[in-house]
Amino acid sequence: MAEIRNCKECGRLFQYNGISKICSRCQRNDEDDFKIVKEYIYENKGASLVEVSEETGVEEDKILRYLRQGRLEIVGDDATLFLECERCGTGIRTGRFCAKCAKELESELKSGFSRPQAPRSSGEKMYTAERKKRR
Ligand SMILES: [Zn+2]
Ligand SMILES: [Zn+2]
Repeated sequence: MAEIRNCKECGRLFQYNGISKICSRCQRNDEDDFKIVKEYIYENKGASLVEVSEETGVEEDKILRYLRQGRLEIVGDDATLFLECERCGTGIRTGRFCAKCAKELESELKSGFSRPQAPRSSGEKMYTAERKKRR
């Protein structure tokens, strides 16, 4: 059964496919923005988040989202790291956690499989609360 939802980006009604929270039109725009940002970052390796945002016209939030999703990666040894590991706060190039924490979380997750329904959502709430406090 098709579900109609409001697009998170533009607010237009669209047919929810269970995956994307934005409509097909915004998704296309999103893909375009993504390509622009990706190209810019590859060509300007030391650029800061503000620079990338200003030069590409893509909002900082959006760029950070690409990085968090792991779609985009900061390249180059002297590149500015826009992201922080959500667990220990160290600078990372892509995703949500540094390599060390990712490994630790993975083993925690594996051991958690034996328990029925690990309280994953409460942990995520904790992170958001922590981040709010820090700002
Ligand atoms: Zn939309
Ligand atoms: Zn970490």
